Amino acid sequence: MSLVDVRSWTPAARSVAEAARRFLIDVCATHGALPVTAIVADHGDPGVQIRLRFGGGEVEGSVSARGDDEDVCAEVASCLQGVVADHLLGWPECPGHGHPARSERLAGGAVWLCPAEGEARFAVPIGHYPHPDVAANVAS
Ligand SMILES: [Zn+2]
Repeated sequence: MSLVDVRSWTPAARSVAEAARRFLIDVCATHGALPVTAIVADHGDPGVQIRLRFGGGEVEGSVSARGDDEDVCAEVASCLQGVVADHLLGWPECPGHGHPARSERLAGGAVWLCPAEGEARFAVPIGHYPHPDVAANVAS
């Protein structure tokens, strides 16, 4: 099953599509296989548009898609986290903290990060949420 429908084949659109795929993998990891499709289209100067289409409707956002793939991934995750906020309240959870993790570009790549205590507490690569090893480390 393809989660991402790419309508433009520019480098920016491809990078955004891969980032959207990683975001949706994380959504599916916590919510089961949702019938969600991301439609990605590059509109040039206004940015790359991402539409998420699901059973009940559609939401959309757009990103500038600047920087390398990991920069783009952090931007896309932040954008999509915002546009799905009404549907996935507080997602993704920062384990044990009750607040949502925030997407951030670290040296090693784009991660979901604890917004209060940073990577010492919780950081997991986007596309690998919730990382079982990391979750075990912060369980106590
Ligand atoms: Zn936290």
